[in-house]
Amino acid sequence: MLGLMQEWPLLCHKLIDNAERQHGRREIVSRSIEGPIVRSTYAEIHHRALKVAERLERDGFGLGDRIATLAWNTARHIEAWYGIMGVGAIYHTLNPRLFPEQITWIMNNAEDKAVFVDLTFLPLLEKIAGAVKSLKQVIVLTDEAHMPETALPNVVAYEEWLAQADGNFAWKTFDENTAAGMCYTSGTTGDPKGVLYSHRSNVLHAMIEAMPDAMGLSSRDTILPVVPMFHANAWGLAQSAPMIGAKLVMPGCKMDGASIYELLDTEKVTFSAAVPTVWMMLLQHLEETGKKLPYLQKVVIGGASCPRAITTKFQDNYDVQVVHAWGMTEMSPLGTLCTLKPDYAGLKGEARLGVQQKQGFTPFGIEMKVTDDAGNELPWDGKTFGRLKVRGPAVARAYYGGIGAEQFDQDGWFDTGDVAHINPGGYMQITDRAKDVIKSGGEWISTIELENLAVGHPDVAEAAAIGIPHSKWGERPLLVVVRKPGREPTKTDILAFMDGKVAKWWMPDDVAFVGEIPHTAAGKIQKITLRQQFRDYHLPTD
Ligand code: ADP
Repeated sequence: MLGLMQEWPLLCHKLIDNAERQHGRREIVSRSIEGPIVRSTYAEIHHRALKVAERLERDGFGLGDRIATLAWNTARHIEAWYGIMGVGAIYHTLNPRLFPEQITWIMNNAEDKAVFVDLTFLPLLEKIAGAVKSLKQVIVLTDEAHMPETALPNVVAYEEWLAQADGNFAWKTFDENTAAGMCYTSGTTGDPKGVLYSHRSNVLHAMIEAMPDAMGLSSRDTILPVVPMFHANAWGLAQSAPMIGAKLVMPGCKMDGASIYELLDTEKVTFSAAVPTVWMMLLQHLEETGKKLPYLQKVVIGGASCPRAITTKFQDNYDVQVVHAWGMTEMSPLGTLCTLKPDYAGLKGEARLGVQQKQGFTPFGIEMKVTDDAGNELPWDGKTFGRLKVRGPAVARAYYGGIGAEQFDQDGWFDTGDVAHINPGGYMQITDRAKDVIKSGGEWISTIELENLAVGHPDVAEAAAIGIPHSKWGERPLLVVVRKPGREPTKTDILAFMDGKVAKWWMPDDVAFVGEIPHTAAGKIQKITLRQQFRDYHLPTD
């Protein structure tokens, strides 16, 4: 017998409809690409998104078409997203930090038919557009007055294009499993892989995200998503904020400490989310200027392991709650968040920090397990680490085009490529990427743990651990260190600092000092390049 409840397909345009109805006057403030701070509301965004949909349809775009965006976080980018989804097309966020050849490859793989592009990225698009055969139209996210000269064919200024619509448009309706968005993983190994979100997965992800023990968002919040929309959907905030009616503050192209601080302060931001590097820049700015954060209540930190120093500074010096989080493009992207269950809520000092170093537990809607290489599930004992696998309604079940099938098993589990352990309380801790883990004498050494420990040294700016071939042990750890400007820590200083804080056999066999550590387009340490750099390195212990 079937239940007798209504069919109400989970479609993304319902999020913006709800924002307009219930929170129409709530603001969306953007640092525009042209310069000034501009203000809009959910009611205006809703109306303009309808116009985007109307215009797209008139230009011949519709169900299933991939429409790219090459843009920063602004209100215009959000309007474009909802307009694209509302006509049944698929927003495809491009990461401008990739090499032009990679972007060309991705656009061709996705067969993007049109692209919304920020002024900043027009020169980049000019270089590659000719090589993207499917591309029919370029919409520059600006007005006529700021429209630059360009040799690109079929180009139009967004505001001029939008002015030719009146917004008298009804969203298209279709099955909730219809594709809504697309994002390629940065591809640290092999070609980038396309992840295809559905309307249903986006809506469910927004609901999961807003829950109190996830990000805990409400209509009273003012949210600043520093994490870009092209980086795994701005971690879902472009959907969960309209869903709950929070004010949104969009940082545009400026993510340095002073610019982020200005928005946090003038817009009275209560909640923000970004990768550790961004927070490092903000904290440095605060230390240099002596400024405080009177409005900010909570920051979500993820994308890479959050150094202990960031957590302590936010909590002790600025009274801001830190929520460490883990996820990936394939998971829309949320996986776990480190809020405190009752057993941990009363912890203080080091004990509390120890829990907060973990990536946290899964909210309802995400399942996880760790297995050995043969697929046997490992115990939740907080120390046995293995491959981290996940499933849920907002987790990919395949990549676009069917590649990478080996990462998905027949029981619906997705192998994340991360290595982790889970404690009896359900808290997961990432110890490595499967391909980065150091295998010494058949045992695994966590590079993340070594790195986190090393950056705790006051004279260390950045550290990366890699495995170097060793005749006896197979591999042994080498710690690569960037010193803080004006500081001269030695190998002995650093090893003495680490001594006793990890197992003896985990201690690096050597320390190498470099001027810079290579990073990926997503700002993560590029271990492949680093390993290549140290290919001929000979450990003194060998
Ligand atoms: P890519 O997989 O190409 O690096 P993503 O942006 O999807 O692109 O990154 C997901 C990966 O980032 C995770 O699989 C994990 O390795 C890493 N990651 C994300 N958050 C954290 C975190 N809090 N701690 C450690 N690693 C993290």
